[in-house]
This record gives sequence, structure tokens and C-alpha cells, in this order.
Amino acid sequence: MKQQANLKSPIKDVNEQLNSIRNCFNPLHPLFSPGSQIVDHFSSRISFHSPSSSSDEDLYQHLQSLNLAFRSSQVNHNSVAVIADGGVKKSHVTTAAAHIWANNSVIKQLQVHSLNVISIEAELMAIRTGLIPAMKIDNIYNITVITDSITAARKILESKVDPLQNMFIPLAAAVKTFLSKDGRNKIRFWYCPSRAEWPRHKLVDDQVKASSCASTFPSKESHLFSKKKECDNTLCEWQTYFANSLKKGHYFLNFEDEKGRVIKPTYAKGGSWLSIIGFTNSLCTCFTRMTTGHAPIGEYRQRFFPHLPTSCPCSKAEVQTREHIVRECDRHNPST
Ligand SMILES: [Zn+2]
Repeated sequence: MKQQANLKSPIKDVNEQLNSIRNCFNPLHPLFSPGSQIVDHFSSRISFHSPSSSSDEDLYQHLQSLNLAFRSSQVNHNSVAVIADGGVKKSHVTTAAAHIWANNSVIKQLQVHSLNVISIEAELMAIRTGLIPAMKIDNIYNITVITDSITAARKILESKVDPLQNMFIPLAAAVKTFLSKDGRNKIRFWYCPSRAEWPRHKLVDDQVKASSCASTFPSKESHLFSKKKECDNTLCEWQTYFANSLKKGHYFLNFEDEKGRVIKPTYAKGGSWLSIIGFTNSLCTCFTRMTTGHAPIGEYRQRFFPHLPTSCPCSKAEVQTREHIVRECDRHNPST
């Protein structure tokens, strides 16, 4: 027993040291005290620019303005641009990269890796990786930061308890020092989604995607990563249970996505089915009846009321099935 206790203790210690969740809350940090927050003193010298809506037109307009902002950052000798991007691989290895641009060329390329974090943490790491060195360059008053997560950038002004707190405290402190140093110092954050393939952002994005760094030892997890892992496991259990359970009914109709994969239930974005149907009650009722097979059609009568007619009134189907109604029947497809 004594030997067992001796053995367990170091294993337990190592396990706790390497596999626990990283400490991430620091609500008492002076940066969050009323009166000393960044917004209290520098709200006019830090700005965030993103499209006014998610439409392609607004994104196009926004990218035009981004082009102008970038060009202006490259002709002014007291300005630099930081282009940042972060990505999480399936192996949970995260790469965060940033390019610092001045006079139309990259003057610094920076890259860091981490383990067991989620995408917003990767984006925040990327901003930090590029912005902190940029703020240390002599005679720079204006910094334009280009990122595909304006949500991550806005965390710098966050003053409430936040799971990302320990990650953005060093960045927020450096930003405060930079803005305090000179009244001319300004930072502008510009949103640039990876899907827009804005050429200079794509260079960083490609670097992140091409980077390879294998994890060689166990690592602690961030609080958000741990939550995501729990959530993913629960969702996976739910989807497996749903796929194998007969409770959904023998006639449950599986739908497939564009790639031919059966659509699984999810809680995200309004769910897998109801989000597509919308808020029309009658449509929702029809859809539910069709999906479960509990509709007043021949196929249903064949199962529960076999003495009643099962054929379709169009007389082209002996059994009026859902497939017949949706794909073939002239009564329900007036255009054919
Ligand atoms: Zn028919």
C-alpha cells in the first residue's frame, strides 16, 4: 500500500501539472479597475472597422476602404500595418502568425505555436504576436491591424470577467503603454475575413495553413478548449444515440447535405432542420409529418388503417409514398 501511494503521488502530480486547465481568470488585475481601463482614457485613439452587414456588397465596400487604409499606412513613415491570422489544426496544434508591413514590404514575420486552445484564442495570439513588436518600433504613431476576428481584437477593451482574460492582459497592458507614451499614437483594427482572400492577408493565412509543428508532450488546456471538448463529446454522444435509436420512428426520413452525408442533429445555429424551415407554423407541421411519416397519405394508412385506400388519387402510384408525393405526383408538383 505504501509503495502504491509513493507511486501514485508523482503520477498524480505530473498529471495535474500537464493535463489540467490553464488558469485564466484575473478579475482583480489593475487594468480592469474603474478609471484605469483603456476605454476610460483612449477610446478616441483605438478603433474597429468592420462591414455594416454580412452582405457581399457591404464586404466589398469594406475591402475597398481596407485597401485605402492599408495604402495610407504604407506611405506614411510613422505608420505600419500588422496582418495577423491564427489557425487550429485537427491535432489541436495552433499556429498564430503575423506580418509587419512598412513602405510596401514585409519588415518582420512572426510565428508562434500553442496547444489546446480554440480559434478565438489563436486569433488573439496572432494579434498579440504582431502588435506587441510593432508598438516597440521607434517613431511609429499609427498602427493598422488587419485580422479576421474583430471579436478577438475587441477583447482588448474587455473589462469584465472573461475566460480569455489572462490571454489578453499582456496585450491590453502593452496597448495602454503605447497609447500613454505619445498623444499621437493610434491603433486601428480592420476586419478581413480569410474567405475574402485579400492578397496580403492570404500570405499570412497560407503560412498558418502550411506550418507544421507536432505536439510532443501533454499540455494543459485552456478553459474554453476544455468547454469545447466537453461540448463536442456530448454532441457526439447525442448524434450516435440519435442515429441508432428507434425512438425517432422507423419511418424517420434522413436528409443529406450537398456532399451526400446524412444530416446529424445539432444545437448550433437553430438546429439542423428547424433553422431551414423558418417560422411558418403550417410549413413546420407539414415538414414534421413528412419527416416522421405521420401524414394522412397512403403509406401511413397502409401501416395503421390497412382497410382504407392506399393508392394516390392521381392513379399513378399504388401506394402513395412520400417519395411519390415529393418527386413524382402531378397533384403536388404543378410545374411538371
Ligand atoms: Zn400522385
